Amino acid sequence: MKNRIVFLFVTVFLAHQIAAQRGAQQLTRQDTLRGSITPERAWWDLKYYHLDIEVNPSEQTIVGTNTVRYQVLDAQKRMQIDLQAPMQLVKAIQGGKALKIEHEGNAHFIEFSELPKKGSIQEIILHFEGKPRVAARPPWDGGITWNKDENGLPFIASSCQGLGASVWWPCKDHMYDEPDEGMMISVEVPENLMDVSNGRLVKVDEDKAKKTKTYHWKVINPINNYGVNINIGDYVHFGDKYDGEKGKLDMDYYVLRYNLEKAKEHFKDAIRTMQAFEHWFGPYPFYEDSYKLVETPYLGMEHQSSVTYGNGYQNGYLGRDGSSSGWGLKFDFIIIHESGHEWFANNITYKDMADMWIHEGFTNYSENLYVEYHWGKEAGSAYVRGTRAGIRNDRPIIGIYDVNRSGSGDMYPKGGNMLHTIRQVVNDDEKWRSILRGLNKDFYHQTVTTQQIEQYMSEKAVRI
Ligand SMILES: [Zn+2]
Repeated sequence: MKNRIVFLFVTVFLAHQIAAQRGAQQLTRQDTLRGSITPERAWWDLKYYHLDIEVNPSEQTIVGTNTVRYQVLDAQKRMQIDLQAPMQLVKAIQGGKALKIEHEGNAHFIEFSELPKKGSIQEIILHFEGKPRVAARPPWDGGITWNKDENGLPFIASSCQGLGASVWWPCKDHMYDEPDEGMMISVEVPENLMDVSNGRLVKVDEDKAKKTKTYHWKVINPINNYGVNINIGDYVHFGDKYDGEKGKLDMDYYVLRYNLEKAKEHFKDAIRTMQAFEHWFGPYPFYEDSYKLVETPYLGMEHQSSVTYGNGYQNGYLGRDGSSSGWGLKFDFIIIHESGHEWFANNITYKDMADMWIHEGFTNYSENLYVEYHWGKEAGSAYVRGTRAGIRNDRPIIGIYDVNRSGSGDMYPKGGNMLHTIRQVVNDDEKWRSILRGLNKDFYHQTVTTQQIEQYMSEKAVRI
């Protein structure tokens, strides 16, 4: 028996090694530049972005600037900015002067003529343009989706988790650093369309000669880069207010004109989501930036304060119940799951994509907590047990560090079931809930590692 266990262990261990090796062989310097905190990234701390772009649907182009404000942590002369081909970084301006740029694939190294003063706040304006990569299978294989709605009007959206925000705009494309003071997103579109981005709409400018409108969206809180999004279409708006733990939360919904009546009924799940998740995880983490649900031409994504939705106004995941328990058809999977990410992904964010289970494990787990909140503990348990059928045990859940590689898709159902198992070990529901709420309080608006989460849970499970 003992020998069999050792044999099994060795087999599993070797299988993992081989899988890791196989992954390692395909890694390039571009992966390291994309996925590690290079010296050209480490010396400056992001403070603020102003992304100011014009989107041209007929040409399928984006042109504009990103003004990056940052603090100098350590005086260095070379800065890494990421922008993926075929988008082009045209120039970088500081103090009115164009700086030299050395291009190395998707990484661009900007050379300063003088050493900046340590501690000082600086700004650089990045000019860029091009035809961004078209999303092949959004949101998993992302980029920009250029669709038409049923009336033949443009219906456009960005999605770039994993791939990175640098697929459509120049930025520091590593998750460890977020702009501490938020972001302004200004998007110029044809006058008959509307852009919906993150945060709150503060102003709309109109250019009558050009027949365009520019929508200015302000985000107050730090935001992760794949969370930044544009959604352009013939939108109509309706809204609600949620009386939550931190006061009145503005809940705003943007849907295609002809889906308004359907959405008014169907989006009631958003309020039910807030009720359940504030109970389990604590206050919604972005009251200042509001909560939004925005219709998109793809399935959906956890864009911060601008959750995107394309599940066809039906319950389940495209009408299916991934848990086969029946409970998965009681709610709209995309509203619940993507909104759950506001706590785990947007509030608590992985530093390295290898730790993506922090986003997907907890959010998969949040689905059964939603079921439990509304239909009782046994219903929640049946749901989470049902998702076990989806576990493949193919490779480790943790991916490869410093090269922007996530682990197995098991991070969803296995992650959720691991947390459900730990709950049984803790065997004290109030203590368990206080750990979930404590995570969101103590790691509020932070980027974290697996070790930090493990250590926190281990300590709190014993001490509280
Ligand atoms: Zn997810």
